[in-house]
Amino acid sequence: MSTIAQRLNSIKSTLPKGVELVAVSKFHPVEALQEAYDAGQRIFGESRVQELVEKIPALPADICWHFIGHLQTNKLKYLIGKVALIESVDSIRLLEMIDELSARQGVITRVLMQLHVAAEETKFGFTPYELIAWFAARKFESLKATHICGLMGMATNTDDIERISADFKTIADTRRKILEVAPDLRGFDVLSMGMSDDYRLAISEGSTHVRIGSAIFGQRVY
Ligand SMILES: *Cc1c(COP(=O)(O)O)cnc(C)c1O
Repeated sequence: MSTIAQRLNSIKSTLPKGVELVAVSKFHPVEALQEAYDAGQRIFGESRVQELVEKIPALPADICWHFIGHLQTNKLKYLIGKVALIESVDSIRLLEMIDELSARQGVITRVLMQLHVAAEETKFGFTPYELIAWFAARKFESLKATHICGLMGMATNTDDIERISADFKTIADTRRKILEVAPDLRGFDVLSMGMSDDYRLAISEGSTHVRIGSAIFGQRVY
C-alpha cells in the first residue's frame, strides 16, 4: 500500500512545469490533508462549504484553499476572504453576489467561471456560447472586487478518450474565443481541467490546474 505522500509525489513528478496541482481533499479527514501538507502540498480543493469552514482552522494558515463545488448564495458569506480561488462560479447571480460581498468586506476575490461541456445534465456551469456573449458584452467591466482568472470545467464521465479530449479542447477554445472578444482582459490565464482519471488528457489540451482527489487520497467514503 502506498501512502498519500508517495502518491502525491509520484503524480507531481509527472506534471509539466507550469501545471499546478490542486489536491481535492473533500470527504477526507484533516489528518490526510496534513500528510499531504507535510509532503509539500499547499493547494487544496474542497466542494462543501461546511466541511471547508471546519478544516481551515485545523490546518496550517499558508494553505491556498480552492472552492470547487456548487455554491449556494446563502453560504457565500462563509467563503469570502477565506479562499484563494472560487473555481465554480456557475451563474451571473452568484458572480454578482461574490462581487457585492467582496466589495463590502474590502477584499478582492479571485474566481473561475465554470463551463458546462460534458454530456451529463447534472453538471453545473455556463455554455461556451453564453460565456463568450457575456464577455463580448463587456459585462465584466462592472465588477468592483472580483478578478476572473480563467475557466474551470469537467469532461464527460466516459471511457471514450476522443470525447474527453474534445470536451477539454472546447474549454481551451472557449478561453481563446473570450480573449478574442475581450483582448484587453488581464490575468485570464487559468484553465482548471483534469481529474484523477483524465488529467493527462487535460494537460495535453492545455490545462494549467489539475484537480486530483482519489488518485492521492484514495476512494472517498460518502
Ligand atoms: C471531486 C472533484 C474532483 C476530483 O475528482 P477525483 O476523480 O477524485 O480526482 C475534481 N473536480 C471537482 C469539481 C470535483 O468535485
